[in-house]
Amino acid sequence: MRMTGNSDSISLYFHIPFCTRKCDYCHFYVLPDQEKAKDQLLRGFHLEWNLLQPFLQDKQVVTLYFGGGTPSLFGPSRLAILLEWIYQSASIHPAAEITLEVNPENVTLELMRAYAAAGINRVSLGIQTLDADLLHLLGRLHHPETAIEAIHTVNQAGISNISIDLMYDLPKQTLQHWSSTLEQVRYLPISHLSLYNLTIEPHTLFFKNQTQLRPWLPDEETSLAMYEMAITQLEALGLRQYEISAFAKPHHESQHNTGYWTGRAFLGLGPSSFSYWEGKRFRNVAHLGRYCQALEAGQLAIDFEEQLNPDAHLRELFVIQLRLREGVCLKTFQDQYGTLDTTTCHTLRRLTEEGYLQRENERILLTKRGLLFYDSVATELI
Ligand code: SF4
Repeated sequence: MRMTGNSDSISLYFHIPFCTRKCDYCHFYVLPDQEKAKDQLLRGFHLEWNLLQPFLQDKQVVTLYFGGGTPSLFGPSRLAILLEWIYQSASIHPAAEITLEVNPENVTLELMRAYAAAGINRVSLGIQTLDADLLHLLGRLHHPETAIEAIHTVNQAGISNISIDLMYDLPKQTLQHWSSTLEQVRYLPISHLSLYNLTIEPHTLFFKNQTQLRPWLPDEETSLAMYEMAITQLEALGLRQYEISAFAKPHHESQHNTGYWTGRAFLGLGPSSFSYWEGKRFRNVAHLGRYCQALEAGQLAIDFEEQLNPDAHLRELFVIQLRLREGVCLKTFQDQYGTLDTTTCHTLRRLTEEGYLQRENERILLTKRGLLFYDSVATELI
């Protein structure tokens, strides 16, 4: 069941920025794991939630996502309190997907059972790789064995909708490393997998050390081979590629992420979180103290907002939806959002002639070549 297409459906995202240690490649807003700060954040969530009430009239929440950071460090009691506020004051779809991001080293059976009892029905685990040396190089705190055990423990705790993240394009990663990690996926009780290729972002340790690291990065040809290898191996395991970087067992596609790809409105709560609402994008300040200060003063903690230009917005919606393997039904898209401009229609025709896109009746979708070079397709269309 896909819970999209209804303009009254919305998603909620909660940013919980605490981590035990900052990974060397991480560019997210992250704070050290401290009890006092977690209580402060819970109070912030409460104030923000109350201020957001006018947005929620006549809306139904279809997905909730606790991301970070390491949201599993927030603790089941705080999460249960937060969910209770939400259930008391908003309409929640009876089958709402409620995801918690978890790091393998934090997983215990007791903790996962407590999260399940609090209402979590989907877990996303940051596995990244099942190679010990590469995990060390990334600055991650877990070992491959911890990761595998954590996945089984989550399943044992009664949460069977399990997603894992895997990374490729890592320094010193070879096709053999990658194949071996993918090979082990066969034995894991997972329903979903997201792929990420490493990008070296400013303000990270990797960025600082990039001169030493760059020579160790896989070249473009190897990188493409890794991506193609993932598609072949994962599809053979029944994990169908339904989006450029996402794979799922039947009926286990991420409802939350599908919302991002199909233009569903969402509200982000917590420091540094983004919202997308009625053609507007806005972001909370990336500072816990300032976030709480604004809310205590009765104001939302927004430090950036943009009203999207209608034509550019339409193109952006189209390009993001094109990430889905099923592509975009032109008629449904234009009926829902408006007509694409002539230049975009010409570009679509040209990209089809060049073999990046294909038409299937009313649908436009990426070809295999388009899948491999999506970034270039997106740049041409936006
Ligand atoms: S666990 Fe995730 S959020 Fe935390 S530092 Fe590492 S990459 Fe960043």
